[in-house]
Parts: sequence; C-alpha cells; structure tokens
Amino acid sequence: MKQTVLITGASSGFGRETVKLFHQKGWNVIATMRSPEKETSLSALSDVLVTRLDVTDQASIDSAVTEGTRKFGGIDVLVNNAGYGTLGALEAASDDVIRQQFEVNFFGLIDVVKAVLPGMRARRSGVIVNVSSIGGKVTFPFCTLYHATKFAVEGLTESLQYELNPLGIRTKIVEPGGYKTEFSGRSMGYYGVGDLGDYREPYDLFIKNLAKWPMSENIGEVADAIFKAATDGTETLRYPVGHEAAPLLEARRQTEDVAFKKMIIGQTLFS
Ligand code: NAP
Repeated sequence: MKQTVLITGASSGFGRETVKLFHQKGWNVIATMRSPEKETSLSALSDVLVTRLDVTDQASIDSAVTEGTRKFGGIDVLVNNAGYGTLGALEAASDDVIRQQFEVNFFGLIDVVKAVLPGMRARRSGVIVNVSSIGGKVTFPFCTLYHATKFAVEGLTESLQYELNPLGIRTKIVEPGGYKTEFSGRSMGYYGVGDLGDYREPYDLFIKNLAKWPMSENIGEVADAIFKAATDGTETLRYPVGHEAAPLLEARRQTEDVAFKKMIIGQTLFS
C-alpha cells in the first residue's frame, strides 16, 4: 500500500523539495500551499494532490485534510514545514508582527497537528515531523520572535511524544542550519528598529554580518533529513541538518550561557 504524506508550505524551499523527494520514493503527496493556483509543475506529478492550506485559516486546514484523506485513504505522515522569520528589535515590533509570527510558526502548526490526529489515532499509526531550526536551540540577536516560535515548536514536539507514542504515533523535529530558500528572501519579515536609535548600530551590523553567513544551496539534504525522520522507524527525536548545525548545537550543549553569549556576539555583532 502506498503511504501518504501531507506537507505544508510546499510552494517553495524545503517544502517543495520534500514534495519531490516523497514523490520520487513512491508516496502519495498532499502538497499544500497558500496559492495553489500559481503551481504548475507539482500539479503535473502523478499521485500529488496540490491543494490550498493556509495554516492561519482553519477552514483551509480542514478541507485539505478531508480532500487528501478522501483521495488517498488516510495521512501517514504530516510534515509541518510552513513558516517564516522576522528580524528587528523586540521593542520595535508591532502587536501584529508579534502575533502573526506565532500564528504561522506555532499556532498554525498546532492546528494542522490537531486536524490529522483523529485519523492517525484511529489507525494507531503516524509520524509528525515538525520543521524547527538550529534557531530552536540557539539564538542570534534581533531574531527574538522567530526563536520564540521555534523554541516553542521544540518544547511542544518533545512533550507531545509522551502523549502520542503510546498511540503508535511518533513526533520528530528537523533542525536545519542556514539554507538559500525564500526564507532569507521574499519570506523574511524585516521590521527593523523603527525610530529607536539605540538599536540602530548593532542592528545594521548584524544585518551586514548576516549577509555573509554561508547559506547552503543543498536544500536536498533537508528533504533527505525530513524523509529519514518520517521513515526511519526509530525513537530519535531531533535531526540537525547542515554543515554548521551539528557543531553549533554541540557547542551550545557544552558551553555555559555567558561563554556561549560571548561567542555569538563575537560572530554576529562585529564586522
Ligand atoms: P521558504 O522558501 O520561504 O518557504 C516557506 C513556506 O512557508 C512557503 O511555501 C510559504 O508560502 C509558506 N508559508 C508562509 N506562511 C504560510 C501560511 N500562513 N500558511 C501556509 N504556508 C505558509 O523558506 P524555507 O527555508 O523553505 O522554510 C521552511 C521552513 O524551514 C520554515 O519553517 C523555516 O522556519 C524553516 N527553516 C529555514 C531555514 C533556512 O535557512 N532556509 C533554516 C532553519 C529553518 P508562500 O509561498 O505562500 O509564502
């Protein structure tokens, strides 16, 4: 029996690459996105259902899950990939910016999890792969809101395993490092520092240094990590991926807070 995966944020980046990988591996794929009418190449693939799902719109979540389940008979794996980042000084963030960051990266993810769980519980089987980030374990300056959402995803996913493992459902966390996708392009929400001059110099320096961060173009390795998490049948919870991910996370584990802060300041706030 062919297995079925539902992927959010499949219009670009990791989500799109992951649709292609699962399809190549012979899976049915429910490739969900906010604007499916713009998609042409994924829609041409056999056993790929391209359909609308905005993680902030409950009706669209319900209808994508219903449509996918009707077409393929059930959802074996959920990949919660949709998300974006914001950059700026917390004090300059409007209420809308703050809440929207959480609506998409955290509350939206919960709503999609809740929509697939009845089917997974009924079958006593399933895997939920939540795409976090190295930024779910370590922090950089001026990314407070993004980190807060990804730390929340990490805590939620880690705790959820206790509820779901006894029901035959595994939860997984994929933690990519920096990759060249729309994440750092059109998806990035730069709200900056407004007229709060105290933050201007370090913010500008951080943005300048961020542009030098070596972003990998090999987004296929993130799709591979998501596929592994979905299919390896193990109890492994976290899957760091990317050249800097494992060393950085290891450094975080081995370094106490003040020393780690100094290391991050050294790397990000000096030219
Ligand atoms: P991307 O190319 O910008 O893809 C993000 C996807 O999320 C897009 O398909 C976007 O859809 C979708 N999305 C945004 N808001 C949405 C909403 N309300 N409902 C449904 N979909 C929504 O970036 P990416 O790098 O592939 O990012 C995927 C995930 O990886 C994110 O969770 C991100 O935080 C995480 N991540 C990325 C990196 C990196 O360096 N690239 C590193 C660590 C973690 P639209 O096309 O409609 O905007």
